[in-house]
Amino acid sequence: MSDKIVSTEAVPSSVLHASLSIDPPRIIKAKGHYLHTSNGSSIFDASGGAAVSCIGHANPRVQHAITQQLNTVEYTFSPHFTTDAYERLASFLVDSTGGKMPKVFVTGSGSEAVEACVKMARQYFTELEGPQSKRTRFIARDRSYHGNTLGGLGVSGHKARRAIYEPLLGKNVSFISPCYAYRDMRPDDTNETYVARLAQELDDEFQRLGPNTVCGVLFETMAGLTLGAVAPVPGYLSAMKSVCDRHGALFILDEVLAGMGRTGTLHAWEQESVVPDLQTVAKGLGAGYMPIGALLVGKKVVDVLAGGTKAFMHFQTYHGHPVACAAAHEVQMIELVKDKGTKTPFPVHQKVAPTIHAAGLQKFSIALLPGGGVVDGTNGDLVVVAPPYTISREEVELIVERTAEAIEYVLGKTG
Ligand code: PLP
Repeated sequence: MSDKIVSTEAVPSSVLHASLSIDPPRIIKAKGHYLHTSNGSSIFDASGGAAVSCIGHANPRVQHAITQQLNTVEYTFSPHFTTDAYERLASFLVDSTGGKMPKVFVTGSGSEAVEACVKMARQYFTELEGPQSKRTRFIARDRSYHGNTLGGLGVSGHKARRAIYEPLLGKNVSFISPCYAYRDMRPDDTNETYVARLAQELDDEFQRLGPNTVCGVLFETMAGLTLGAVAPVPGYLSAMKSVCDRHGALFILDEVLAGMGRTGTLHAWEQESVVPDLQTVAKGLGAGYMPIGALLVGKKVVDVLAGGTKAFMHFQTYHGHPVACAAAHEVQMIELVKDKGTKTPFPVHQKVAPTIHAAGLQKFSIALLPGGGVVDGTNGDLVVVAPPYTISREEVELIVERTAEAIEYVLGKTG
């Protein structure tokens, strides 16, 4: 496709848009951080759609990965087959949790990941048998959003979106206060007293429902679309997980919005080192190149399934879609390895990441951060790019270009 923007003819829309009276602007090209409309205007995409397009539009590497996958395997039915693309993405995600979440189920959206999560939690308790199998309830938070499908909405505390569907939604979900320091912290509160009050509220809810009736507690790690981007106060996640653990329920974090780098770490829970039992990711996973979400399953849950039915009783026609997996894998950052097939790292004594750092500074005028094994003396090299939020599109392109040049320069010599 040429770079020239060609206007499409304005014809009445057959699409069921959010508004039946006004059509939204028609986008005929998306590139970098700009959306170009059919009436000739250019819009700076500051929200990345619904907080999705985190690497900008029309990234040639992701486009290439998608094309390659289309030319290899465009689709298989995931309950019966697997693909290199699905395996690669799943092992990237497992590795990103340090192996603490050893299994991944790829879905087509965030809502589907949430629903898979809820079903997984229920299945976990049925596999435990005895009184545990009677657990059917969930605790979520007021003013939360976990999706617009009936299952996702069912665990969402978003009153407006629930309103007319209320009679269709499950009755086994109750809601407690979110962690919203800006509005709910009292003048004499410290972080500790505020967190203690929220933990007490969760404990009270367990007692009210009957602690042995609750499958899981489901939160957004960082509240997203309903409260604004509101991070939990320090100590909140670990206090809530302790209450959950005490009552034997699963601690479930919805990172559809907060995950995949949005908060500065790949997973938002890394900020407090609180590993959930189940987790969702979506938006930043595919960055908009393909519709995709995922459920990450913690070891405790995997072990119970592996010792029980040895199956996950849920699938969808398009889950684990290879093209979506290939796009999502290409979207992630880069780890430098000696052998891509076996993922063998460079030996630590070769100092690959520090050498790239030095080459970046001396030859390519770019300051990169060496990371990975170099930090603790083990094998494994990462080059970390952490640009300022005020960065321009041209500067992002410059970073990509110079980083690639520095890596190629050093790896060309290292072999
Ligand atoms: N969970 C959270 C935290 C979200 O922010 C969203 C969407 O905004 C969803 C779930 C639903 O994801 P999707 O719209 O991809 O179904």
